[in-house]
Amino acid sequence: MPAYQYPDSHVFYRKLTRRYPLITRGEGCWLIDEQGKRYLDGSGGAFVANLGHGICEIGQAMADQAAKIAYINGTAFTNEAVEALADELAPLLPAELDKFYFLGSGSEAVEAALKLARQYWVETGKPSKHKVIALSPAYHGNTLLALSASAREHYKTYYREWLVDIHRIPAPYSYRCECGGVATAACPVCDGSGLDAAIQQLGAENVAAFIVEPVGGSSTGHAVPRPDYFRRVREICDRNQVLLVADEVLVGAGRTGTWSAIEQYGVVPDIMTFGKGITGGYAPLSAVVASRKLLDPIARGSGGLLHAQTFSHHPVLAAAGLAAVRYIKQHGLVARCRVMGQVFHQKLEPLRALPFVGDIRGRGLLAGIEFVQDKGSRAPFPRKLKFAETFSEQALAAGLMTWANMGQADGINGDLSCLAPPFVITESEIDELVRRFTMALHQTTTKLHLG
Ligand code: PLP
Repeated sequence: MPAYQYPDSHVFYRKLTRRYPLITRGEGCWLIDEQGKRYLDGSGGAFVANLGHGICEIGQAMADQAAKIAYINGTAFTNEAVEALADELAPLLPAELDKFYFLGSGSEAVEAALKLARQYWVETGKPSKHKVIALSPAYHGNTLLALSASAREHYKTYYREWLVDIHRIPAPYSYRCECGGVATAACPVCDGSGLDAAIQQLGAENVAAFIVEPVGGSSTGHAVPRPDYFRRVREICDRNQVLLVADEVLVGAGRTGTWSAIEQYGVVPDIMTFGKGITGGYAPLSAVVASRKLLDPIARGSGGLLHAQTFSHHPVLAAAGLAAVRYIKQHGLVARCRVMGQVFHQKLEPLRALPFVGDIRGRGLLAGIEFVQDKGSRAPFPRKLKFAETFSEQALAAGLMTWANMGQADGINGDLSCLAPPFVITESEIDELVRRFTMALHQTTTKLHLG
């Protein structure tokens, strides 16, 4: 049997030192490798497989579309699939956010969203507005502008010279905030008011946009901002003429129990990005969503967005998106995510009693489990122990796919395991997830000699 490991395989993946199981098929929440071993997809891969594996009609819709057209370029033509997809998505968002620009990855969408924000200000006579404010911890992608906007320092190690300066303010991450996460505390980090000071420091006339994940992504282990956070942020952005960019690449498309995560805050951003789960993983598709308020001045001015990619608005990718969004609607999967999200969090709750589990948080079918060396002081493990990475390998050995994230405690230390199962997960599968998680934690502590 071939070993799928560098350098024996002609494929290379990010990790050059590990052996890769070969997955041959998927069914619902399960992935099955060539040996027949079954993995419960507890994180939907990288927060992507929202609908479950093996939905033939999505593949069929892509095949049907591919049989009609190979490719058309968005400078000359539009296509049925992309028009229908935008029509299908528009009613899911606030009325004014009804213009969609489709790309492939989340990073591409973030790059395009920030360029759109910048172009808007140039074309409306405020060319000094170019600075972007982002949170820390936060993640917005791996291409150079998106990476610049991300507070993921180890990803930047070799590329700092190529990155642009993005102003950073602390993310609302109450588990490690001085305010202790008290919902009524006048805390500039958790109540959002700190954004105002940052804008004043940079000069409002220089600030183009504030980019934020409406519920924390993997970098905070899904910390949920306070109910008043986005109301305050919206008011500060309006007062200072700063565009609010909601990066919904990870938390959008139903994952937190509503189509967009920010709608639970009663706030409408100026620009949104979607990606990952928008096709349930059947094809790489992302979207930038904007309103006529932003696009009309550009239409009247230069006449076009100064951002082009060969494969934008691709008909086959749009057909995947269309089939996936229709599937979500037909099967009521966003509502299911909301209901099962509550069951999920109830069933995760007992994990708090396990050694080294410091916190469990999240919303909907999205949960972050933070591991700590000392539960009382919340002290993280030293990075060199690689607790989170060891845990995710032990989880895979136990037949559970999870997502590890590191560094959230202080930029270097911090160990998280993130869970984001498909929206079709059943109660008994959640029980199985918890059982395998517990087993993997036990194996991890044994392997790391933590007693
Ligand atoms: N934005 C957020 C919030 C993300 O979580 C990610 C990826 O994890 C991205 C953007 C980048 O998406 P992609 O990896 O598809 O480029």
